Amino acid sequence: MKYSDDIMQVMFSAEQIKCRVRELAQQIAVDYAGRRPLVVGVLKGAWIFVADLLRELDVPADVDFICASSYGSGTSTSGEVTLLKDITLDCRKRDVLLVEDIIDSGVTLSWLKQMMIDRKSRSVNIATLLSKPSRRKVDVDVKYVGFEIPDEFVVGYGMDYDERYRTLQDICILKEEVYSK
Ligand code: 5GP
Ligand code: MG
Repeated sequence: MKYSDDIMQVMFSAEQIKCRVRELAQQIAVDYAGRRPLVVGVLKGAWIFVADLLRELDVPADVDFICASSYGSGTSTSGEVTLLKDITLDCRKRDVLLVEDIIDSGVTLSWLKQMMIDRKSRSVNIATLLSKPSRRKVDVDVKYVGFEIPDEFVVGYGMDYDERYRTLQDICILKEEVYSK
């Protein structure tokens, strides 16, 4: 059995993702010129995006990871956020750039952003590869968005369904039958 057998449709190919990630990195480099941002990747989904984005980014950046979850193993949010792993670097007086795979309800990101503000970061911005505007429940200001997508559950490029499919190179929609297995 291969992951590719479970794909219904490719939403964004590895090539499309690569181009867009490069554009985002160029925009971020302009905005952060002369500064050294602390990039905080939101685990686990953003791991590949962080790795690709930072290698395209032409400003010095520190990197750390945080793990918060508003999700169980299903496909819809519970509305509550739990901090599963904190950053190890000090974010006080730092220009924090939170990097997320996908913003859905916005609950996770607005919670994380507020936490960084409470810890006296100098600035807090958000970069997300994907955004589902139609699903937003809380208003959160997202400075960098890779692609806006419709209300579809996607996997690949770091993102999972029940811990599977993270290693797919494209961003994909799964076959209906995968969820009923
Ligand atoms: P929010 O708090 O914005 O509702 O949830 C954001 C998190 O939910 C994302 O970081 C991601 O982990 C998960 N999520 C939301 N939509 C999707 C999706 O379409 N596919 C996957 N794999 N995860 C999603
Ligand atoms: Mg995530």
